[in-house]
Amino acid sequence: MVATTPSSGPDPRTPARYPWHPPGARAAHLVLDRVPLPLAGAARIYTCGITPYDVTHLGHAATFVWSDLLASVARAVEVPTVTSRNVTDVDDVLTAAAVRTHRTTDDVAVTQEFLFDRDMRDLAVARPDAAPRARAHVVQVVQLADALLRLDRAYERAGTVFFRAPADLDRAGLSEEEALAAFDEFGDRADDGREAAWDVPLWKPSDDAQPAWPSPWGWGRPAWHVECAAMAMTVFGANVDVLVGGADLAFPHHAYQAAMVEAASGTTPFARRRMHVGTVHADGAKMAKSTGNLVLVRDLLADHEGAAVRLLLLDRDWRAPWDYDASALAAAEDRLARLRAAAGRSGADDGRDRVLAALLDDLDVPAAASVAEEVGGEGARTLLSVLRLSS
Ligand SMILES: [Zn+2]
Repeated sequence: MVATTPSSGPDPRTPARYPWHPPGARAAHLVLDRVPLPLAGAARIYTCGITPYDVTHLGHAATFVWSDLLASVARAVEVPTVTSRNVTDVDDVLTAAAVRTHRTTDDVAVTQEFLFDRDMRDLAVARPDAAPRARAHVVQVVQLADALLRLDRAYERAGTVFFRAPADLDRAGLSEEEALAAFDEFGDRADDGREAAWDVPLWKPSDDAQPAWPSPWGWGRPAWHVECAAMAMTVFGANVDVLVGGADLAFPHHAYQAAMVEAASGTTPFARRRMHVGTVHADGAKMAKSTGNLVLVRDLLADHEGAAVRLLLLDRDWRAPWDYDASALAAAEDRLARLRAAAGRSGADDGRDRVLAALLDDLDVPAAASVAEEVGGEGARTLLSVLRLSS
C-alpha cells in the first residue's frame, strides 16, 4: 500500500488554531479568604437565604450582593456557576410573626419574599439558579434525619430527633464562651432530652399552634440547621464550592449544616470554602430591630441609585465588619461617577486583565476600582460590568 496525500485542502500535519476562543478565557486563579480556591468546571455556590418574616436591611443585602459578585467574577473568567439561595419558610420566628400580626404564615412569607425580590432586583442581584424552599424539602429533612439515625449520628427522644454534635465541631474560631453565647442565641435549642450540651434538634414535635408534617417520629417540623443541610444536599449533593452567609451564620448554623451533611454523606468537607460576610453596624451596634437601628434597603433606594448602594456594600473588605453612615453612601456615589467617567475614556491595553486580577485576589474591589479609575477604558468598563454597576 502506498500512502496518498490529497492534492488540495489543508495540510493534515498542521494543528488547528482557534483564534475565536473566548477572549476572556483564562485560568481562574481565585484566592478566597486568603487561600487559593482553584476553580475548574462549574462553581457551586450555596448562599443561606432569608427567613421571610421581616424587611430586608443593609446587613442582609450585603451577604447577597457579595455572593452575587463571587458568581459574577467566576463567570467573567469563563467558569460556569450554579447558584442556590434558599428561603427558610418553615421557622419558629416566621410562625411567631404570623401570630403576632394575625396573619397566616403563607401570607407573611409571600409578602416578605415579594419585597425581598424587589430589593434584590433593584440592587442588580441575579436571581439564583435554584431557590429551594424549606416547605418543599420536609421530605428531604425526614430522609436526612432517618439516615443520621441509622448511622447512629442522631437519636430520638419523645418525638424529637437530636443530632449528635461531632467532637471536632468547627466553632469558627470562637472561644468556648463566645460559642456558647452564639449557641444560646441561634442554636435552635430544644428544651429537654438531649444527651450532650452541643447536640441540636433535627426534628421537633409541633403543638397545635405550629405547622406540622407527619414523620416516623410523629407530627412535627424540621429544625433550622437541618433545613439548609437538606436543601443544599438536594440541589448540589454532598458538597459545594462556596458556602456563603453573614458572619453570624458561621457558628452555629454553618458549622452544624456542614457537620450534618458530612455525617450523612461520609464526604468531607461539605464546603470547600466558607464566605462569611462582615456584619453591618449602625450607630455602633449590629443592625437589629430590637436595637432600632435598621437601615432598610428600600429607604436608601428611595433617594439613591441601586448601583450606588451596591458599590457602598462592595467597595470594602468583604470580611470586615463596618459602620453605615450617610457620608459613606455619598462617597460611593462619587466613586461611581468617577468610574463611569473613566469608562468613557480610552484606556490601557492591559486594563481588563489588571481589574480581573484584583477581583480574583480575594474579591479586592477597592483595589480593582482604583485600577479601573487609573487605567480607564476597557478596564473600567470591565469593572462596571463585573460589579453590575451599569446604569
Ligand atoms: Zn442556612
